[in-house]
Amino acid sequence: MGNYLGIDIGGTNIGFGIVSENGAFLYENSIPTENMKTAEELADYIFEDVKKKGEFIGIGIGAPSVNQNTQCIEFAPNMNWGDVVDLNGIFTKKFNRTVFVINDANAAALGEKFYGEAKEMSNFAVITLGTGVGMGMYINDQLVLGKNGLAGEIGHSIIQREGRECKCGNHGCLETYVAKDGIVNTAKEKLEFSSGSSILNLIPPSDLTPTEIFKAARKEDPVALEVVDSVGKDLAFSISNLMNILDLECVFLTGGISNNGNLLKRKVEKHLKGYLLPNLHDKSQVRISILNQQNSGILGAVAAINSQLKIALT
Ligand SMILES: [Zn+2]
Repeated sequence: MGNYLGIDIGGTNIGFGIVSENGAFLYENSIPTENMKTAEELADYIFEDVKKKGEFIGIGIGAPSVNQNTQCIEFAPNMNWGDVVDLNGIFTKKFNRTVFVINDANAAALGEKFYGEAKEMSNFAVITLGTGVGMGMYINDQLVLGKNGLAGEIGHSIIQREGRECKCGNHGCLETYVAKDGIVNTAKEKLEFSSGSSILNLIPPSDLTPTEIFKAARKEDPVALEVVDSVGKDLAFSISNLMNILDLECVFLTGGISNNGNLLKRKVEKHLKGYLLPNLHDKSQVRISILNQQNSGILGAVAAINSQLKIALT
């Protein structure tokens, strides 16, 4: 049994930590993503930071738009490190350890399976809600990768024909409505057309965040409630399609936006009833991941390298 270095590369923050095989954090730190201009710079930074913090036998990295087959980040819409970034090559060279790179949403699904509430589940999905929207899926007890390792891009499934412009080049993607910027844009639109007062008007538009909007909704602010309801409805629409097609027992929500826990869950559940096939109503459920507060991205990356090293040993 050994320790692992887990790295969770997000659009806003990069978290990393030294974690034991059973999921206990021995050391943890993070850095804003915008401070790192290249993946090489990140590898140098983490190398120096963890140097005296403990030993580890392998490195797991979760990142957006990772193709697990090539171990590269490919065309990540929310990152500026180049079109194709050979993360595995860069970190292997710097650390001289076995490295495994996995799509951040697949890492979240692995984390849920190893350390979360999905231990006994064979058919579930984990949706990550943050700067972008991703998804990892377990079907018949297998992580679903797809032919090119790109399965699960629910954030870029289109929920509105001719809808909002997305960073991927298409229009109307789920992400443009329920990820960080999407929620803020909905609030701005509703504020522009609302005749009543809203406490959101007291916040300069450039400082609006999903956290502020959910906070205002908890205070019964009518505009904020409309925004949160709309997020719940859009999510329920996509989740119901997933459940109807795949017969999932649970969809877990994780990532920054899901820190809004019960309020978000209630709104999704309210609309889900209307979309879901009636015979799935009491068979499929939505849960907020209990790993959310414990840095599930890092745990997922650790689960990925842990299982990869085990496969290599057998
Ligand atoms: Zn898109």
